[in-house]
Amino acid sequence: APSLEVRGLAYAYPDGTQALFGVDLTIGRGERVALLGPNGAGKTTLVLHLNGILAGGLGAVSVGGLRIDPGDRRGLREIRRRVGIVFQDPDDQLFMPTVREDVAFGPANLGVRGAELDRRVAGALERVGMLDVADRPPQHLSFGQRRRVAVATVLAMEPEILVLDEPSSNLDPAGRRELAEILLSLDVTVLMVTHDLPYAAELCPRSVILSGGVIAADAPTLELLAEE
Ligand code: ADP
Ligand code: ADP
Repeated sequence: APSLEVRGLAYAYPDGTQALFGVDLTIGRGERVALLGPNGAGKTTLVLHLNGILAGGLGAVSVGGLRIDPGDRRGLREIRRRVGIVFQDPDDQLFMPTVREDVAFGPANLGVRGAELDRRVAGALERVGMLDVADRPPQHLSFGQRRRVAVATVLAMEPEILVLDEPSSNLDPAGRRELAEILLSLDVTVLMVTHDLPYAAELCPRSVILSGGVIAADAPTLELLAEE
C-alpha cells in the first residue's frame, strides 16, 4: 500500500466555507513531496485530515493501507501513530522539563516501555543530532534546535509518513542546511507544506500545488521551478 492515499476529499467548515473540492493524492512509500499553494488554498485543511483531526467531509484517506474511520477510536489511534505532524511552531510540541522526556512522551503514551523506549528516544535524537542535549530543558535550546527536537518527537513514534508545516521558517541559513541534511538522511515518506520553493526543490523531487481547494499541479519540483 502507498504511504498516503487521498480520494475525492471534499470539506466545508461549519460556517460553510468550502476549503477542499475533491482532492486526490497518492504518495508512495519513501517519496518526498512538497505541498505548495497560496494562503487559503486548503493546505492546512488537507493536513488536518491526514490524521483525523478534521473529518466529516466527503471522500477517503488511507495511511499505509489503513483507512481513517472517525467512528473507530482504535483505528484513529493507529492513524495518529502512523502520521507524524511537525507543526510550524516547535513550542506547540515541546512541553516537558527535558528534551528526553519530550521525545519519550509519544511512544510512552502508546505503551512503549523500558529498553525499547530508550532505544526509540536515543535513535530519534541521534538522527536529528540532538542526543547531546537530551537532558536539557527545550527552552534552553535555540529555535533551530527546538525544531529538530520537534522532528525527533515525531520520529520516535516511527511514523509511516512525516508531515512538516513550513519546516524552513524562521531558520537561518545554517539551520536550514542542517535540517535539510537531516530530512534527506531519513528513510521515511515526507510531505512538506511550504512556501519556500528553493527548499522544496532541494528536498522534494515531487511537488503538488493546491489552489482554491483543488490540485492545480502535480509535477517534478524542478519543472515547476523552471516555470516560475
Ligand atoms: P496558514 O496559511 O499558515 O495555514 P492561516 O492564516 O490560513 O494559516 O490560518 C491560521 C488559522 O486560522 C488556522 O487555524 C485556520 O484554521 C484559521 N482560519 C483561517 N481562515 C479562517 C476562517 N475563515 N474562519 C475561521 N478560522 C480561520
Ligand atoms: P492554507 O493552509 O492553504 O492557507 P487553509 O486550509 O487554512 O488554507 O484554508 C482553506 C480555506 O478554508 C480558506 O478559505 C480559509 O479561510 C478557510 N478556513 C480555514 N480554517 C477555517 C475555519 N476554522 N473556519 C472556517 N473557514 C476556515
